[in-house]
This record gives sequence, C-alpha cells and structure tokens, in this order.
Amino acid sequence: MTTPRRNLTPEAVRRLTLAAEPWLSCNDCFDTVDTYVEIMLSGSPDSMPALRAHLSGCSACFEEARSLLLLAAADAGVDPGPALRRLEKF
Ligand SMILES: [Zn+2]
Repeated sequence: MTTPRRNLTPEAVRRLTLAAEPWLSCNDCFDTVDTYVEIMLSGSPDSMPALRAHLSGCSACFEEARSLLLLAAADAGVDPGPALRRLEKF
C-alpha cells in the first residue's frame, strides 16, 4: 500500500527559514542603517532585529554602521562609546 506523502521541497524549506530569520539585502540595510544608528545613540531598545541580523553577518554594512555612528555622535557632540559597545555586542 502506498500512502501519498508530501515531503518538504527545498524551496519550502528555504521559505520557512526566511520567515524565521528575516533577511535584508545590503541595499535595504543601507536605507535603514541611519535609523538604527539613532536607536543605538539614543539608548532606545533595539527594535530592528532584521537589520541586526544583517550587520552580524555582513562586515561591509557593519563597518558602514560603525562609521555612521561615529559621525553622528561627533555631530551631536556625544560620547560614541556606549552606542559603539551596543553596536559591537552581538
Ligand atoms: Zn550588507
């Protein structure tokens, strides 16, 4: 006897993985990273897990965020230290 069985296709598995872990492109990251830097500087709770995930895996965007943070802190005349530590803590 044969029971029809639906196995998960690789495509379905890929979509499930994406749903669990939001994925951003470097362009998406670039568009929103300044908001994230403001969050880091203001000490607000981290509300952008997708961006966070991208930064932890993409050194180019991480460096971008880091220099943006230093610039923004200098602009505002605040100590970048605490925000920098938040940014670098994965
Ligand atoms: Zn990136």
